[in-house]
Amino acid sequence: MDRRHFLVALSAVTVGALGLARCGTSAQPRATEATPVAVEQPPPLLPPPPRAARIPLPGGGVLSSLPGDDLLALTVDDGVSSDVVRLYTEFARDTGVRLTYFVNGAYASWTENQALLRPLVDSGQVQLANHTWSHPDLTKLPLSVVAEELRHTHDFLWKTYGIDARPYFRPPYGAHNAHVDKISTELGYTANTLWSGSLEDHIVIPADEIVTMAEKYFVPGAIVIGHLNHEPVTQVYGRLVDLIRERRLRTVTLRDVYLS
Ligand SMILES: [Zn+2]
Repeated sequence: MDRRHFLVALSAVTVGALGLARCGTSAQPRATEATPVAVEQPPPLLPPPPRAARIPLPGGGVLSSLPGDDLLALTVDDGVSSDVVRLYTEFARDTGVRLTYFVNGAYASWTENQALLRPLVDSGQVQLANHTWSHPDLTKLPLSVVAEELRHTHDFLWKTYGIDARPYFRPPYGAHNAHVDKISTELGYTANTLWSGSLEDHIVIPADEIVTMAEKYFVPGAIVIGHLNHEPVTQVYGRLVDLIRERRLRTVTLRDVYLS
C-alpha cells in the first residue's frame, strides 16, 4: 500500500469508528476495508432562544410552566445514584440537551461527578439549583431547620461549583406553605419551581413507562420532572431525544428563559 492509499484507508477507518461512537452501539462490525462509510448525522437539537430574549421571572413565586411555543425544561432531581448523575451528564454532553438539576447536596454523586459536570455547568448547558440538603418535607420542620436545609446546599454549590443557585429551588415533594415560602424568599430563593408533568421515575418503573410519560408531557411550555436516582431512564435517552427532535422542542434551563 502506498502512502496515499494508506491515508485513505486510515481516514475510512476513522470515520467508521466515529460513526460507531455516535450511534452508541458496539454490535456493528468494524469497518475493515477502505470503502467510504456514510455517517448519518441525526438532526441537530434546536438551540435555546438567544439570551437577549430572556424575560423577567413571573411574580407570585411559583413556576410550573414556561412561556413560548417550543420550550421544554427537563428538570431532574436528587442525585441518589452517582451512576445516574454520570449517565445523565454524559447524555447532555453527547446530545446537547439542556438540563436543570435540582441538587440534594447530601449525596456523594455531586462530588464524585464534579469533574464531568463542571464544564457543562460553566457553559450554562446544565444548571444547578437547590433542592435542599437532605430532602425533607419542609412543611413539617421548624423554620430554623428549613433555612439550614436551603443554606447547606447553597453553600455546597458555591464551594464545589462556584455558582450561586439562587433564585431557583424546588421543595422536596413539591411541599411548601406560607412559612416555607417566607423563609425561602428571605434567603433569595424566590423561584419555587414545580412542574407540569412527571416522568414518574421517583420510584423504579420500567423504562417503557418512562417513555410513555415523556410522550405525554414533552409538550411546548412544559417543565418536566425526572430523577437522578434509578437506572431505567438511562436506557431510553435515545428515545427521549428522538421525541424532542420530532416535536421540534428547544430544551432549556430555567436561566435560559428567565432573567434573575
Ligand atoms: Zn426530590
